[in-house]
Amino acid sequence: MSDQHSAAPPHHFETLAIHAGQPADAATGAVVTPIYQVSTYKQDGVGGLRGGYEYSRSANPTRTALEQNLAALEGGSRGLAFASGLAAEDCLLRTLLVPGDHVVIPNDAYGGTFRLFAKVVERWGVQWTVADTSDPAAVRQALQPRTKVIWVETPSNPLLGISDIAALAEVARGAGAKLVVDNTFASPYLQQPLALGADVVVHSTTKYMGGHSDVVGGALITADAGLGDEIAYHQNAMGAVAGPFDAWLVMRGIKTLSVRMDRHSENAERIAEMLATHPRVTQVYYPGLPEHPGHKVAAAQMRTFGGMISFRVEGGETAAVEVCNRAELFTLGESLGGVESLIEHPGRMTHASVAGSALEVPADLVRLSVGIEAVSDLLADLQQALG
Ligand SMILES: *Cc1c(COP(=O)(O)O)cnc(C)c1O
Repeated sequence: MSDQHSAAPPHHFETLAIHAGQPADAATGAVVTPIYQVSTYKQDGVGGLRGGYEYSRSANPTRTALEQNLAALEGGSRGLAFASGLAAEDCLLRTLLVPGDHVVIPNDAYGGTFRLFAKVVERWGVQWTVADTSDPAAVRQALQPRTKVIWVETPSNPLLGISDIAALAEVARGAGAKLVVDNTFASPYLQQPLALGADVVVHSTTKYMGGHSDVVGGALITADAGLGDEIAYHQNAMGAVAGPFDAWLVMRGIKTLSVRMDRHSENAERIAEMLATHPRVTQVYYPGLPEHPGHKVAAAQMRTFGGMISFRVEGGETAAVEVCNRAELFTLGESLGGVESLIEHPGRMTHASVAGSALEVPADLVRLSVGIEAVSDLLADLQQALG
């Protein structure tokens, strides 16, 4: 890819993942964007900024490269990189909402997202209603005169529910609300929410984008230039930006996103098929299985079905916890989206904060983040863990 973007033909996802926002370094020719580990920049006379950089909360060249890359991958005009997924969510909500506004939130979501709405944002006078976002009619019914945001995760965490992004975009447009899609589980390689009508995409780049369990980060991407400016204003005013080294790690991860996601999906499909016929497994949640209620919608809006699987175990909570403890190659731990396979018990771990709410998860649920190891090794480990 030349540094003259204007003359280049439009590139495919895999090419953009490696090159977008990352021309060779102007000063040295370095092929990889350097880590600009710096807080401030020499001005050529007062206000004489080189390339617009004055202070690294406002902008930093390493972060800029990641932000341009994120915008290109999601088909947006503006990408913004944050210190974590939750920092991105917080910034977005404080950009879009004022006291008295209302949001519709999903009945299955990352526990920390629910906690942000229920324990933090609510204290600032924002009302919320839980709806089954896999049913556009249920979302329409949950609307109120001051609904400003419809929040969706698809696939959802941890029950792998599928919501029809295009249908919900229509509901949002009719209500004058913004449709926000948390695209963490799918990644932009598998799913492009902006093209389907979403207003803003949210990522925990900690997960598949980073891909190596070595960085915490978040992102917002939009195709609405005015909204992009408003979010950028709030990002600078509130300050939860990604540091240069973290931005660099996420960029490095993104370069291999497409090949990793292909393998995550391949391995997960094999494992879901094994679990679906295992005598000790009572239910499997994976959108790639034809019996999944969202399979058709997922097949239409996703390239493949991703690397996350949840399943329920015969014998209740104790049995589910035992399976987690017995796994060896699957590492017992929170988080997801890394090259290594992880196993966890959502009820006691990632989703402890939704206990007693409409988002409570089954006690016999086990969640897998299927990595890119040899699938035969992963299958063998699960089979021994299930006993
Ligand atoms: C992890 C996660 C988040 C939160 O991101 P952090 O980087 O941990 O702050 C949000 N949404 C989903 C779907 C997640 O899995």
